Amino acid sequence: MKIGIYGGTFNPIHLGHMAAAKFAAEYLGLDKLYLVPAGIPPHKELEEDEAGHQHRLDMARLAADALELPGVAEAADWELNRKGKSYTWETVEAAHKRFPKDQLYLLMGTDMFRTFQDWRHPERIARRCVLCAFGRNEGDTQASLAPQARYLEEAFSANVATIPLPRIVEISSTRLRRLLKEGEGRAYLDPTVYGYILREGLYGVKKDLTRLSLEDLRCAALSMLAHSRIPHVLGTEETAAKLALRWGADEEEARRAALLHDCTKKETREQQLALCRQYHIEVEKPEKLETKLFHAITGAAVAEHVFGLSPAAVSAIRWHTTGKADMTLLEKIIYLADYIEPTRDFCDLRELRRLAYEDLDRAMLLGFTMAVEDLGARGMVVHPDSVRARDYLKGIMS
Ligand code: ATP
Repeated sequence: MKIGIYGGTFNPIHLGHMAAAKFAAEYLGLDKLYLVPAGIPPHKELEEDEAGHQHRLDMARLAADALELPGVAEAADWELNRKGKSYTWETVEAAHKRFPKDQLYLLMGTDMFRTFQDWRHPERIARRCVLCAFGRNEGDTQASLAPQARYLEEAFSANVATIPLPRIVEISSTRLRRLLKEGEGRAYLDPTVYGYILREGLYGVKKDLTRLSLEDLRCAALSMLAHSRIPHVLGTEETAAKLALRWGADEEEARRAALLHDCTKKETREQQLALCRQYHIEVEKPEKLETKLFHAITGAAVAEHVFGLSPAAVSAIRWHTTGKADMTLLEKIIYLADYIEPTRDFCDLRELRRLAYEDLDRAMLLGFTMAVEDLGARGMVVHPDSVRARDYLKGIMS
């Protein structure tokens, strides 16, 4: 296997790091790429207001997912768990022990590449890894890297690969931190990483989460999702907006509810229970409640208490999974949008998609009927609220 190691302070990880990582992984044909945030970087001081270990690791995880190299890119906490300064030779030796039969590739930008001979034990690193260098500025051409490559080959018998990045994003974390403090810089960040910074209030970005613009709320919401769920949530947002326009609901309110409807979905059962305790939510027989159903309850609480959504939007999130009898317009819109958004393909949704724009209650009835049948066919317990919702609609239509 070809295993890439890309270390950095990643404070924060930005589009420069990500563009280089993605292209290098594909160019080198890496089977794995580990993004390795440094614990205590040997070559620079971390300033007081900078992000701690866990934050830099969490952001690296979001960035790794956003590279869309499934099964390849991953953030690793290797250096964060080690005491003292994070020396690359130790990381590389440990990786060699972990993957003794695999070829290691150490990725770095030009600034690191040009000073490689000054690192601790460059000879040990060169023995274990192919050194892979890419540009950070437009002036960093392949030709300009060649003399250093030759020097390292001669001095350390290094195996060097220079990587012709097709696109260089000229940014450093230092400049980005300054920009963020001034209310700029988000263009250099993946939306999920920016959303994380917003939620955690890092780098002087101190926004009132209950008054976020729709765009900022979208970033915050995406940062809370498993990456694979992002297309679904964006699809739900767009569908909810269309349904709101069609049925005369508030479009922005529908978008906000849709964006947050799955905001706690990736939490484990234990975390869901902890959220219930935090927000003083009494769940009847929690031990009997399916894990999948918790997120509507906790998601509504987070939407209310963290992001200050309106009571109507909170209620739409609360009932988006099971539904209930006598639902409001926004509750129906979010329930249906979640069901019919374009990425859903688990069953034939053509009729439901048509009805949703033609007759809202008939669409709801069809949705509940299909959901109840589908759950029954799979031998799963149907929540009584869904049955009541279906029977209520049957009653008012008969
Ligand atoms: P700081 O400004 O805090 O020094 P940085 O932006 O240089 O941070 P690091 O986390 O120290 O980021 O860098 C990790 C690695 O990523 C280094 O090998 C560096 O050369 C490389 N790198 C940093 N920024 C870019 C960029 N814009 N394009 C390509 N590589 C980059």
